[in-house]
Amino acid sequence: MTATLLDDLTLLRDLGYTHLDLTRVVEPSSRRVVEEPAMDNSTTGRLDDLATPWAALSAEAHDCTKCRLAGARTNVVFGVGNPNADLMFIGEAPGRDEDIKGEPFVGRAGQLLTDIIKAMKLTRDDVYIANVIKCRPPENRNPEPDELDACRPFIQRQVELIQPKVIVTLGKFGLQSLTQKAYGISAVRGQWLDYNGIKLMPTYHPAYLLRTPAAKKDVWADMKKVMAELGIE
Ligand code: URA
Repeated sequence: MTATLLDDLTLLRDLGYTHLDLTRVVEPSSRRVVEEPAMDNSTTGRLDDLATPWAALSAEAHDCTKCRLAGARTNVVFGVGNPNADLMFIGEAPGRDEDIKGEPFVGRAGQLLTDIIKAMKLTRDDVYIANVIKCRPPENRNPEPDELDACRPFIQRQVELIQPKVIVTLGKFGLQSLTQKAYGISAVRGQWLDYNGIKLMPTYHPAYLLRTPAAKKDVWADMKKVMAELGIE
């Protein structure tokens, strides 16, 4: 057995799985049709067509110098996935791996998020993944309030364009910055909130789960609520 497969199986066990139904495969045809091209994530292959709102927003983000984080970035980490997604994950800020690759959640915490998405019987291509901060804070420090303010219009516009049925915020900064409310993550985790008419499920950040594996069961309980809301059996 490969280490990756073993890791995946261990995560599923931690999430409460006792057996795997290998016959249940979700056919791609049952997914929603992608009407917009998947967003490009790199600075090199940026869309030049500014005619669509997505392309205009992406271009604005890639050219952004509204805060000090612009100076040290390798890549703007705009977002990735299905622009027609029913489900959107919103994290905090890119780390080193994300800054290098220009894609959110590709490091260790990202692998765990990918595993959670798989356990929900979805893929990263089914959902949309983004952060409230698009450029890496130095040494992965917490984002400053003025940086969150400067970047907020991008995530707000991404939500507006996608109009997901459900948003899952990962950790305190994703929740607080999107909603502009001082929610305590432990107090509201697992409870449905409303964001401009969209159902919002706050849960723990995958990086926290790496440090606190016992909290994985809480996140899985939250994701089960999300699956029920989306009709995923
Ligand atoms: N943590 C985040 O919040 N976002 C990422 O993209 C990676 C790690």
